[in-house]
Amino acid sequence: MKIQLIDTGYFYVDCGVMFGAIPKTTWQHRYPCNDKNQGVLAMRSALVHSDDGHIVLLDTGAGDKQLKQLSYYGFFNLTNLAEELSKQNILPEQITDVVLTHLHFDHCGYLTRRNESGEMPVMVFPNATHWISRAQWENSRHPNPLEKDSYFTENIEAVSKANKIRLIDEDTELCRDIRLRLYDGHTPGQIAPYIKTPERTVVFAGDVIPLAANVSPEWISAYDTFPVTSYYEKVRMLEEASAQGQALIYCHDAYIRCSTVRKVNDFYKTDHILTYD
Ligand SMILES: [Zn+2]
Repeated sequence: MKIQLIDTGYFYVDCGVMFGAIPKTTWQHRYPCNDKNQGVLAMRSALVHSDDGHIVLLDTGAGDKQLKQLSYYGFFNLTNLAEELSKQNILPEQITDVVLTHLHFDHCGYLTRRNESGEMPVMVFPNATHWISRAQWENSRHPNPLEKDSYFTENIEAVSKANKIRLIDEDTELCRDIRLRLYDGHTPGQIAPYIKTPERTVVFAGDVIPLAANVSPEWISAYDTFPVTSYYEKVRMLEEASAQGQALIYCHDAYIRCSTVRKVNDFYKTDHILTYD
């Protein structure tokens, strides 16, 4: 089992949004921002080689199809994921599975790309099974008003037409050492992959815990559509992670990629920093 983290690009958000009701006087010590209050967020993917032959990609970042519509976010250092994989001698055709934590643009945009003539987007990973929760799929087809701008049909339509989507209704094994578990709060039916390695279980936490600073359960992003649910879902993830020595991958943290967590009294703190690069 081998895990490798790939940053597919970066963008800016108003940093306060990442911490909801927490005042800047508190969060400014935990995440840097510029004089416009903007913080840099990463879009992190993970490439996982399982011992039983699966080559799995977790999330894909935004890609470059919607840069005009999303110019507000000031995307920079975008990575061509296919080129990144070729450096590891992997062709996009060899990816056996793509797991989408959810279908917001910053997690699934690179599933499709425009072909040379700029026509309808085509699949980037044509042979992969694309794992999505049914709850997330339904939510993306009929989004609530707060999430509707986060979904772009062109990111997933070609995959759907090719019949390459596998919808899951409950926690499911992708293969022997990768379990896909469902978490609500940020959006319905987010998938958090749990990867068993000889040292520890590594959790791709997605937007359940997007930044290391979000390990405090009350530090909930204002992007979360069901914040009270987010609180309890985070505690569920953190209780297990701290008790079992699991490591969490923070998909949006530009500074801390992964860490174990420790429970101190009623608080959770990041513990050992890991990189997986
Ligand atoms: Zn996100």
